[in-house]
Amino acid sequence: MENIKNKVVVITGASSGIGEATAKLIAQNGAKVVLAARREDRLQAIVDDIIRDGGEAVSVKADVVSAEDMLKLAQTALQKYGRIDVWVNNAGIMPNSRLNELRVDEWDRMIDVNVKGVLYGIAAALPIMCEQQSGHVINLSSTAGYEVAPTSAVYSATKFAVRAITEGLRLEESAASGIRSTLIAPGLTRTELLDGITSPEVQMMAKHISDKGISPYSIARAIAFAINEPDDTLISEIMVRPTAL
Ligand code: NDP
Repeated sequence: MENIKNKVVVITGASSGIGEATAKLIAQNGAKVVLAARREDRLQAIVDDIIRDGGEAVSVKADVVSAEDMLKLAQTALQKYGRIDVWVNNAGIMPNSRLNELRVDEWDRMIDVNVKGVLYGIAAALPIMCEQQSGHVINLSSTAGYEVAPTSAVYSATKFAVRAITEGLRLEESAASGIRSTLIAPGLTRTELLDGITSPEVQMMAKHISDKGISPYSIARAIAFAINEPDDTLISEIMVRPTAL
């Protein structure tokens, strides 16, 4: 993991689950990590853990649905470390339900966080990376970004969108400015993601499968692999699933 050393990596949604595991894993491998999310106390505890283990990290309270917060996050990373090598658009929510439940507020929220949040992250990182003529954007999709199941229509739509955005970014920027883009598509992973489900039917389904999820470190290792590859090698997509599902 020599190529991770000293890279400045911004991670959204770093206060739990995959974001937390990724921050800890890459910090162990020498990255300087900027952790962002809304829960400041959780972020601070993770930063404290990283520093106690000899790593380097700072936290920034930021909501991905605010384009302004994303710009401030990028500026904080620049002020602190002078550059941004990797931006991980990881924040996401999954309050799944059947369309006929008409949970319109949750549809809006998923589109805001999962799609606009990724776009606002790109809007904050891209000008800096273009100026550097290098950088790496890593976006979290899902196996639900390739297939739709009953109750996942809107979540899947957001994760299909993340695939399209990531592919578009790759086509536009990789040859032109050397900026790499990577899509990470996890299957069921043991995190807090299912806690946001409010539909009783989906809560019941989630209860039955939640213990089959894999560790968030399984996804973190895939992210670390993509970051560690040399600059001339672009890992465009990685899907990581539980063996048992
Ligand atoms: P968690 O719920 O554990 O983590 C989600 C993170 O997103 C939290 O840190 C949360 O922090 C943050 N977040 C949510 N809303 C916002 C917001 N508006 N602004 C900033 N941060 C926000 O779930 P996971 O670790 O599982 O999720 C990470 C990504 O992985 C998501 O994109 C998810 O869709 C994807 N994924 C997860 C799978 C799984 O089975 N777990 C499978 C496939 C994909 P805070 O609340 O502090 O802001």
